[in-house]
Amino acid sequence: MKNIAIIGTGYVGLVTGVCLSEIGHHVTCVDIDQAKIETLQQGISPIYEPGLEELTKDNVQRGRLHFTTSYHQAFAEAEVIFIAVGTPQNPDGSANLTYVQQVSEQIGRHLTRRDTVIVTKSTVPVGTNRKVRDWIISQAPVDTRIHTVSNPEFLREGSAVQDTFQGDRIVIGTDSPFASILMEEVYSPFGLPIFSTDIESAELIKYASNAFLATKISFINEIANLCEKLGANVEDVAAGMGMDTRIGSQFLRAGIGYGGSCFPKDTKALVQLAGDVQHNFDLLESVIRVNHEQQRKLFTKAMEVLGSLQGKRIAMLGLAFKPNTDDMREAASLILIEELQKAGADIIAYDPIAMKKAQAILGDTIEYSQSVTECIQNADAAMIVTEWEDIKNTPLSTYVEQMKTPVILDGRNCYTIEEAAGYPVSYYSIGRPSST
Ligand code: NAD
Repeated sequence: MKNIAIIGTGYVGLVTGVCLSEIGHHVTCVDIDQAKIETLQQGISPIYEPGLEELTKDNVQRGRLHFTTSYHQAFAEAEVIFIAVGTPQNPDGSANLTYVQQVSEQIGRHLTRRDTVIVTKSTVPVGTNRKVRDWIISQAPVDTRIHTVSNPEFLREGSAVQDTFQGDRIVIGTDSPFASILMEEVYSPFGLPIFSTDIESAELIKYASNAFLATKISFINEIANLCEKLGANVEDVAAGMGMDTRIGSQFLRAGIGYGGSCFPKDTKALVQLAGDVQHNFDLLESVIRVNHEQQRKLFTKAMEVLGSLQGKRIAMLGLAFKPNTDDMREAASLILIEELQKAGADIIAYDPIAMKKAQAILGDTIEYSQSVTECIQNADAAMIVTEWEDIKNTPLSTYVEQMKTPVILDGRNCYTIEEAAGYPVSYYSIGRPSST
């Protein structure tokens, strides 16, 4: 078993660290966020991710998992160092590598071994792993040898632990035979397929995968928009398409677009990356444009249905960018709230898990409620933004009983058209006939 250091205890770093300790490695996670580290040292997870807190506690107790703010402590014994810090977007859409550069320089300053394997898990543009190497070497003692590995991460928030144990593949990009053997040893207990390639291809696999998935989403959303105009039902269209194994049935759910910490920034970063080598990625630019419109779709529908939104009470059901996470980054709810407020609406929101994180962003500009029922009381319209179980399972009769006017704008197609037709509600969904 290996001594491993992980830099960054966000969604990727923490899940990776915890899961590597679960398969027996000795893992130290380091972060500059002192509050996060103190929380973790008490066995509490600072993020919501199913199964994560239990595994964290368990491995801390077994003495295989440690948390620290000290690079010195984290790197002292490390044979492998994973970089899992954020790579947010710059104003021009490109990836911001400030944190990656900072931690690379810190690695250089603290290296004590002759050979160290440096693994970049953060999503970074092609060419970054070579820069990581240079940044480390610029600070490292002369006789150290750095072996860089691009090992992009494919976990999904909301099922990150399960994805780590049951992922489709592990991608390893390196030109170092030493690193290649060591990475096999690190990952083989997971028993997952390992795809080995060169560094540049590994870096691009991550962007290409996310861009492809985003394309699938924008494609089905455009089909949904057509369905609304042509009288077809996007769910049947998607089901019929998905039966073709060349197409596949996954990622064909029409909705209010993609959000979160990855697809929006990674698609923009790939457009920038293409631009850097004088390539116009027109297809991906369209995908981004379609998503921009789709995230505002419920607002446009509300305007059509209610006319003026001035003084109207809008219940927002779900705030997180998707169910089973508390992540609010690039969530459609934030875009909708901004548009609704500009139009003069009052908003009351409910989310079973993300309310605390939402409150940190939105403060008291909106009202918060503790349940679906409380949220929709006396509302002029309800917007279903995130398909959490308790939102999906709310009987339509509750809307009829609680709302001032039972107008439901369902951005996640939680109810069937037939169900909705059985209640005195005005029901609008995505890519399907409305019932009023
Ligand atoms: P995050 O923002 O949740 O976490 C990043 C962590 O890095 C934070 O805790 C921050 O305090 C820490 N950090 C920043 N600078 C540091 C420093 N100098 N030293 C130590 N720690 C430092 O980010 P995330 O969502 O985990 O994403 C990390 C990377 O993984 C990004 O490049 C992202 O694109 C990629 N990724 C994310 C996901 C996802 O679903 N979130 C999936 C695949 C890939």
